[in-house]
Amino acid sequence: MNTKEAKDQSKTKNIQNTSTIEKIIEIEEKTLFESLDKNSKGFIYYSDLIGALESVGIKKTDPRIKIEEDDIDYLAGDDLEGIGKITYDKFKKIIQRSQGNLVQNAIKGNLIIPDFKSFSNEINRIYSTTKKNKAGNVASYIPQLGRVNPEYFGVSVCTIDGQRYSAGDSNVNFCIQSITKPINYCLILEEHGEEKVHKHIGREPSGIGFNGLVLNNKQLPHNPMINSGAIMTCSLIKPDLEMADRFDHVMKYWSRLSGKSPVRFNNSVYLSEKLTADRNFALGYFMRENKAFPENTNLIDTLEFYFQCCSIELNAEGMANVAATLANAGICPITGERVLSPDTVKNCLSLMYSCGMYDFSGEFAFAIGLPAKSGVGGGLMVVVPNLLGICIYSPRLDELGNTVRGIDFCKELIKTFNFHNYDSLTSGNNKIDPRLKRNQSKIEGIISLCSASSEGDLLEVRHLVAQGVDINLADYDGRTAIHLAASEGHANIIEYLISKNVNMNPIDRWGNTPLADAYRSKHQMVIELLEKHGAKN
Ligand code: GLN
Repeated sequence: MNTKEAKDQSKTKNIQNTSTIEKIIEIEEKTLFESLDKNSKGFIYYSDLIGALESVGIKKTDPRIKIEEDDIDYLAGDDLEGIGKITYDKFKKIIQRSQGNLVQNAIKGNLIIPDFKSFSNEINRIYSTTKKNKAGNVASYIPQLGRVNPEYFGVSVCTIDGQRYSAGDSNVNFCIQSITKPINYCLILEEHGEEKVHKHIGREPSGIGFNGLVLNNKQLPHNPMINSGAIMTCSLIKPDLEMADRFDHVMKYWSRLSGKSPVRFNNSVYLSEKLTADRNFALGYFMRENKAFPENTNLIDTLEFYFQCCSIELNAEGMANVAATLANAGICPITGERVLSPDTVKNCLSLMYSCGMYDFSGEFAFAIGLPAKSGVGGGLMVVVPNLLGICIYSPRLDELGNTVRGIDFCKELIKTFNFHNYDSLTSGNNKIDPRLKRNQSKIEGIISLCSASSEGDLLEVRHLVAQGVDINLADYDGRTAIHLAASEGHANIIEYLISKNVNMNPIDRWGNTPLADAYRSKHQMVIELLEKHGAKN
């Protein structure tokens, strides 16, 4: 074959490949459409599509879904006049336009939390339980914060695929206060790199309250998550710019991190905070006396900048998006924009884990096992890396300055889901793993147990039982572990199952008991063992 022929042949092959891929895509698109067009009408209602997306936590306002006016046909139909219809051709355009295959994945159930309904129900249950807790007091040392309605309680969750769920006052703006600290820390890591940043700030828990008047043995603030460190952080944010531009820089980051959620500035909190900031001024002078600041730092500007950053406002929905951006290694799930580098996020989460909850940080890391940051405004941002971000807002605080309901919510959350950093070490803990498809863990458990029993692998059977797999569960044919062990003649497995009080007479789809299986396969030892323990044929 000459070169021209070879080229022509490879061209034809490419065309064939392309048309095969196109065909596969076409079939997939058709299948998706048909899954929504339940009565084969040849069109779907707009509400069918939106309903399918919302059932997995994708909001109709999600900027990744691009439905244009023209996609929806509002002509009067033979059903209800004026209801929006979407034809197959328009549907195809909508899914092709959606960012990151969002619509396809949502309809197929291929998002990080496949069974989002059950997950949201659990979050709602935890919300209702936690709501009863009325302990604690609203922060009063900043008078303006003391006037907030103590009853507010909102929770929002956003997954790394942008699935969202909220309960309660999730739209109420609150002052982020100390939650500014991790984000400002990220900004200076991006701007200066880790080495320079940590010439001015340590990374050890301080072991005392958030406004403690102490420095570490190098005369530096202990970490960026307490006031001294956060003031130092502010001195490093775009130091060469005008103050107004420095503040704009911070605000723009909040907007990008939160997927363009509304980010506001509360001027009265800022003024109130500035008037009552003796401790923060003391910390500033103390650090200046110890030459901790970078050269040419203007202390008063730096302190005011810090008070401004603490006076930024977001609602729980916006803050959950910020937490999800951190969970997603710096890419905002809602916009798909990379806002922070993975290294920055890793460093920030490490310090949130060890220092994010003031003087409760060690206890929080122990009991909850997640990176988190609280603020005296009543907000709490929690990150489950590679899965989701959560914000809890409730202004009543405990004596350490953490939101009471926020902590309560996290305790209940960790009892329910396998989110603790080290839950993977205790896999038999019966906690829910929402990453699994509905019944996935149960089905996997039955299949593994049945197959280990049929192979006579006692060690594996023991492991599975230790992990919490129910020995009496049956597969879709009604076959159980003891059926399989009896059919294959594994007396050791049967002895073990008997010691765990297994049901001796389960009946499979064909009406067979384990003893019947043993007779059919002529396993004399097993027959005797089963009969001794009351098995019936
Ligand atoms: N602005 C507050 C302060 O400096 C922030 C502290 C906090 O939320 N713990 O006192």
